[in-house]
Amino acid sequence: MNIADLHFLVAEDHEFQRKTLIIALKSLGAKHILEAADGRVAFELFSDLATPVDVIICDLEMPNMDGMEFIRHIGNAGAPVSIILTSAMERSVISSVETMTRAYGINLLGAIEKPATPKKLRELIERHGENIQPSAQKAAAAIPPGEVISGMEQQQFVPYFQPKVDLATGIVVGAEALVRWRHPQQGILPPGAFLGIIEQNGLMDDLTWMMLEKSALACLAWHKLGWMLNVSVNLSLTSLEDTSLADRITQAVEKQGLAPKYMTLEITESAAMTHVATCLEGLARLRMKGFGLSIDDYGTGYSSMQQLGRIPFTELKIDKSFVTDCAKNPQQRVILESSIDMARKLGLKTVAEGIETRSDWNLLKELGCSIAQGYFIAKPLPALQFIDWVQNWTAPE
Ligand code: C2E
Ligand code: MG
Ligand code: MG
Repeated sequence: MNIADLHFLVAEDHEFQRKTLIIALKSLGAKHILEAADGRVAFELFSDLATPVDVIICDLEMPNMDGMEFIRHIGNAGAPVSIILTSAMERSVISSVETMTRAYGINLLGAIEKPATPKKLRELIERHGENIQPSAQKAAAAIPPGEVISGMEQQQFVPYFQPKVDLATGIVVGAEALVRWRHPQQGILPPGAFLGIIEQNGLMDDLTWMMLEKSALACLAWHKLGWMLNVSVNLSLTSLEDTSLADRITQAVEKQGLAPKYMTLEITESAAMTHVATCLEGLARLRMKGFGLSIDDYGTGYSSMQQLGRIPFTELKIDKSFVTDCAKNPQQRVILESSIDMARKLGLKTVAEGIETRSDWNLLKELGCSIAQGYFIAKPLPALQFIDWVQNWTAPE
């Protein structure tokens, strides 16, 4: 990645600080720099399609529109942009804004306490491009529903598998199946680019059946290799409003020859969950058949403590916004500690998703989390590559 090719936007009200940042960026070779003295101007510049922006360097305290509101608007716009936060505020404030920024799905490169030196800036800028994914909303708007339907008919949707590893022993215990679209022109697309269209066009059930069957088959293939791994599949709760679904899921999985105890269904409650009683009936039945039930994205939005009491979960999956970079952030650590502690008391396994570094791994291990998942271990992999990966895996010391 070449800094000279990136487009920067510096949002900082203090003139001296702003100029210092711009001088630092130029000293690193930046050629395209926009500047704004308040959040509103910054958002106008950002929204102007004539001026592309790759990396925003944003102060938290600004007149008119502060950094938090600015970040919210950027998040809602859904553009694939990276952000670096700068602030003279205390660490706890910066930490909670960091968590908020990630929860908006923004690629947060990091936060720097003022003054920002060229060295610190360079370290963060170099992270841009590592995680950037096509913007969910923009990509979704660009794909016509007909293309999704024919892609489904032509079996272009496939599960990728991301390993889950036992933190205490380093042993691979399973994988989460995550859907990818092998798009003939656009390459491999992540769910953010098409799940919305699938949902709006009533294709969620088709996706669920495909994922259940292919994941059950992959899991059987692992068992044949002698690895008794578990597979996790994401289940949209809207599907469960259909009372027959639990039985049909059981049949579909058993038809492939897999016992339900090897499959965990990951559930994120959505705002669309209107038929609470039907969903509870379905989930209770799935649990009775032997499936594991995981509460996904725990700590965000609708996945909350209330659900833990209502649904017979077996696993609590802590959202990545609390996990990534947790070692640098005392607030995140407190949330992790209490979630893990609560899960232990409720007899649930804990999975931390979004483990990106050695220090994330070490802290979660120290806190007694059961299972780790994240880029530090491996990204989601195509089925055959997953098998190679398991063969070559050695646990971190
Ligand atoms: P999720 O179930 O919470 O899955 C975890 C997401 O975090 C995945 O994104 C995964 O690639 C990503 N991830 C894992 N480790 C790391 C890490 O270390 N750092 C970062 N930054 N990200 C990490 P993905 O594959 O884009 O999936 C997004 C969401 O789409 C999933 O979130 C899930 O809610 C939904 N989804 C995926 N596949 C399916 C499916 O087959 N059916 C349904 N209904 N939803 C699905
Ligand atoms: Mg999941
Ligand atoms: Mg999640």
